[in-house]
Amino acid sequence: MSLSSAVKRIALFGSTGSIGTQALEVIAAHPDLFSVEILTAQSNDELLIAQALQFMPNMVVIGDEKKYPRVKEALQATSVKVFAGERSLEEVASLDSYDLMLAAIVGYAGLKPTLCALRQGKAVALANKETLVVAGDIVMRTALENRAPIIPVDSEHSAIFQCLVGETRNKIEKIILTASGGPFLGRKTNYLVNVKKEHALQHPNWTMGAKITIDSATLMNKGLEMIEAKWLFNLRAHQIQVVVHPQSIIHSMVQFEDGSIKAQMGLPDMKLPIQYAMAFPQRIKNDFPRYDFRSVKNLSFEEPDVKTFRNLALAQEALEKGGNLACIMNAANEIAVYAFLKNRTNFLEMTEIIERTMQSVPFIAQPGLEDYFESDAAARTFAADQVNL
Ligand code: NAD
Ligand code: MG
Repeated sequence: MSLSSAVKRIALFGSTGSIGTQALEVIAAHPDLFSVEILTAQSNDELLIAQALQFMPNMVVIGDEKKYPRVKEALQATSVKVFAGERSLEEVASLDSYDLMLAAIVGYAGLKPTLCALRQGKAVALANKETLVVAGDIVMRTALENRAPIIPVDSEHSAIFQCLVGETRNKIEKIILTASGGPFLGRKTNYLVNVKKEHALQHPNWTMGAKITIDSATLMNKGLEMIEAKWLFNLRAHQIQVVVHPQSIIHSMVQFEDGSIKAQMGLPDMKLPIQYAMAFPQRIKNDFPRYDFRSVKNLSFEEPDVKTFRNLALAQEALEKGGNLACIMNAANEIAVYAFLKNRTNFLEMTEIIERTMQSVPFIAQPGLEDYFESDAAARTFAADQVNL
């Protein structure tokens, strides 16, 4: 991709989600900088059709094949090509006709299309953190071998990435990942045992998709982000520190070897990291609300409560042990969150499902890609059995 080319052609994977729709707002505001080449969605055919009619991409993919006839019919009179199914996601990701993939699919499903883009040497703006949690070593190696840049979209990782601009030769002593603490900050087990999904879906600072909102409530999101950071910035476990910062104004920090700490700050609004990743290395002028130091006077920081929110301890273990353990943890978590959203398990049981799955699925110290696929499948089966899914 030429960084100076006038219009970046975007392949937006997961266009109907929280990140996807916000990315389209950014694109709509900057037709001089971005055009839409590909849109993909799993099941929301109505929204995908509306997006296609507005942005006129070259092609769309609907994951759910049953929805194909409706999408096809609705776009019949246009030049938009319509494909369906999981394989099509990979085929379309492997095309040469776009400049940058915005990887905004949720969960493990994002891994294969992202790998296809990287194998083509495409730049990837990565929102889908699970891709790095599952197979971070292979994903980063594929990016390196194909000279494909990965630009983080996750707000914490975007913050770290922004702090590192101009610091290529300087070593990181540690990073400080900030966590809002989620809706149950300060709560203890006796409270969490009765938490319902409606309550867990209310995040104090961010409006996001259902899965990441539950992950934020259980602190698994921060656990996934520690592992995401390890791969993105080539860090050791001891260089990654989590600090709870309920105001979500500091999005994360980097401490260099001289002890100097850089922070990236702003109001919590995902459009900023989305826009930064899509336009990198440029910054684009916008009229998003600005943070005013006089209005939020107190920025506070505290230790995360890993005894109550044990998912963070499980993720720490996966981070330290490496191998396929994070892949197993991620799969179990996806099943546990799905079960919780279907009222098939309770808030605290999610952690138990994950822990048992991590103990039961065989550990592989140096997995290949097939090992990751198999570990993911084995962990899903094991976790689903626990909740009779
Ligand atoms: P979401 O649930 O709102 O949207 C997910 C998108 O992925 C939808 O377009 C959906 O159609 C698609 N999708 C779902 N399952 C699929 C499958 N099996 N195959 C193909 N496509 C599928 O999720 P989101 O909140 O937008 O999050 C997307 C990713 O970005 C996640 O990995 C999340 O962790 C990460 N992220 C999100 C936020 C946020 O503010 N929402 C912030 C940081 C990181
Ligand atoms: Mg984040």
